[in-house]
Amino acid sequence: MTTAILAEGLCKRYGKHEALKGVDLSVPAGTVLGVLGPNGAGKTTTVRILATLLEPDAGRATVAGFDLARQAHEVRKNIGLTGQYAAVDERLTGRENLHLIGVLLHQGRRNAKARAVELLEQFDLTEAADRPAKTYSGGMRRRLDLAASLVTRPKVLFLDEPTTGLDLTSRLVLWRMIREQVDNGVTVLLTTQYLEEADQLADQIVVIDTGRVIADGTPDELKRRVGGDRLEVTVASPADLAAATRALAAVSLDEPSVDETERRVSVPLAGGVKAIAAVASELEAAGVEPEDFAVRRSSLDDVFLAVTGQTNPATAENPAEKKEQAA
Ligand code: ATP
Repeated sequence: MTTAILAEGLCKRYGKHEALKGVDLSVPAGTVLGVLGPNGAGKTTTVRILATLLEPDAGRATVAGFDLARQAHEVRKNIGLTGQYAAVDERLTGRENLHLIGVLLHQGRRNAKARAVELLEQFDLTEAADRPAKTYSGGMRRRLDLAASLVTRPKVLFLDEPTTGLDLTSRLVLWRMIREQVDNGVTVLLTTQYLEEADQLADQIVVIDTGRVIADGTPDELKRRVGGDRLEVTVASPADLAAATRALAAVSLDEPSVDETERRVSVPLAGGVKAIAAVASELEAAGVEPEDFAVRRSSLDDVFLAVTGQTNPATAENPAEKKEQAA
């Protein structure tokens, strides 16, 4: 499998602040890499470097087979970029926006027109094609923005927080459209603060924190690394906690963790359905009727918390950045 994006030791400094301290990435062609990290971690800086908008201070990278430093022009011809803020001209219609980009990229008027029609269709914008973009909803604008980055049929697509601020329905639509691009062989590097987005779209994930990759793997590998699934039993009465603890201890090598306030006991689930059945019959034999009996799948939220010590990228802040702003 060919590698569409390969980055080695990318470093970038803004004045005294080291935004990237040696980032390595490798993205096989036709796959999606999700880049997660708290605010200020260095995600946008990484994307801007790979999209040739910013020069690294050190390190090297190839994108779509071209060297970033020596073949920036070829890199540009083969990539599309959608930033955090929609880049469409609000006064122009959707059709005019796409047409104009095609003309500016020397596609010729007729080809540019045909490509605009194709993209409007693909992104469910045909009906709104002749309305100024300022009348579009947030979701429609993002779709237009994504369409704009695809005018040249790029091999590699950089999406910097493509769905930030959108409601769930619009995000689902955009996810479908991103998947369609991947099905057509496009390689996607996606930065996101939504763990669910990375979980849904990414084949591989890297977590960046204070300019370094601190974890990487498939979503499942990362979840397994923080302990995998847990079997959780919540009992109605504190008096039943001991029996529930015994039932769970019998199916696990790990000590059950007990939350007395919530009346909840849990253990890592190692034995699959057999272990679940054993706990259920043990509880029945002890006359304990659980209030809740659940297998809790570990999520990327757990991964994020485990590797960054912060709860959620959408709300987490980079302490280094805070300090800098205060200075
Ligand atoms: P966010 O999710 O908030 O966009 P990010 O992970 O994309 O964050 P970057 O935008 O890459 O982070 O920023 C990395 C660090 O570099 C931050 O501490 C930021 O304040 C700093 N930084 C970014 N751009 C500049 C700049 N032009 N001048 C000075 N510092 C900058």
